[in-house]
Amino acid sequence: MRQRYKPWADDFLENNNHIVLGSPYENKGDWKSIFGNDNPVHIEIGTGKGQFIVGMAKQFPNINFVGIELEKSVIVTAAQKVLDSGLDNIALLNENAENIQEIFADNEVATIYLNFSDPWPKNRHEKRRLTFHTFLKQYQAILEPTGEIVFKTDNKGLFEYSLVSFSKFGLIVEEVRLDLHEYEDPLNVMTEYEEKFSAKGQPIYRCRASFSM
Ligand code: SAM
Repeated sequence: MRQRYKPWADDFLENNNHIVLGSPYENKGDWKSIFGNDNPVHIEIGTGKGQFIVGMAKQFPNINFVGIELEKSVIVTAAQKVLDSGLDNIALLNENAENIQEIFADNEVATIYLNFSDPWPKNRHEKRRLTFHTFLKQYQAILEPTGEIVFKTDNKGLFEYSLVSFSKFGLIVEEVRLDLHEYEDPLNVMTEYEEKFSAKGQPIYRCRASFSM
C-alpha cells in the first residue's frame, strides 16, 4: 500500500480517537461493552484505506467490525471513510497484528478477514506473512470455536502457500474459489486492491477456513 508522509496524521488520530482507538490493549475481553451490545465481533487485518470494512459494516449493521492497520498514513484514510459513513459498528486500531492476542481475549472474535495481505515472497520473510503458523496460533486462540478465517488475494503464490499452511496447522478449508468474480456475488464487498486487480482481469482467489468442524 502506497504511503505518503502525512504530518497532520497524529493530530487527526488524536481528534478521532473514538474511531481509531488509542489504547486497544485495555479493551481485551471487553469488546462487547466498547460497542455497547452483544453483537459478534469480526476483524480485518491489514485494513488499508477502509473500503471493505465500511462496506461490510453497512451491509451487516448487527456485526461489530474492528480494522487493524499497521500504517498510520494509511489508517487515516480509513478513519475518514468511517467518519463520512456515520456508522457506529466500526472501530479501527493502528496496531501490528503480531500483538493480536494482547488486543482480543480467547474466543472473542467470530471472523477474521485477511484481504490482499502483503505476500512477502522471500523465504527469509516467511514469518511476516499473515498466514504463517505463528499468526494462525494466535487466530486460533482469539476465534470462537465456530469462527473462521476468510482470505482473499490476487497472489497465487501466497494463496497456495496459505492453503498449505492452513492444512499443516490442521485447519479445515471450507471453501476455495479460484476466480471469485467469475460469477456475480452481491454479498461480496470489494477492497481497494480487489477493484484494482480485478479491473485488470486478474483472478481473485478466496478461501474460508475454520479450526473445527
Ligand atoms: N486490505 C487492503 C486492500 O485489500 O485494499 C490493503 C491491502 S495492502 C496490500 C496490505 C495492508 O496490510 C497494508 O496497508 C499494510 O500496512 C497492512 N499490514 C501488513 N502487515 C500488517 C500487520 N502485521 N498488522 C497490521 N497491518 C498490516
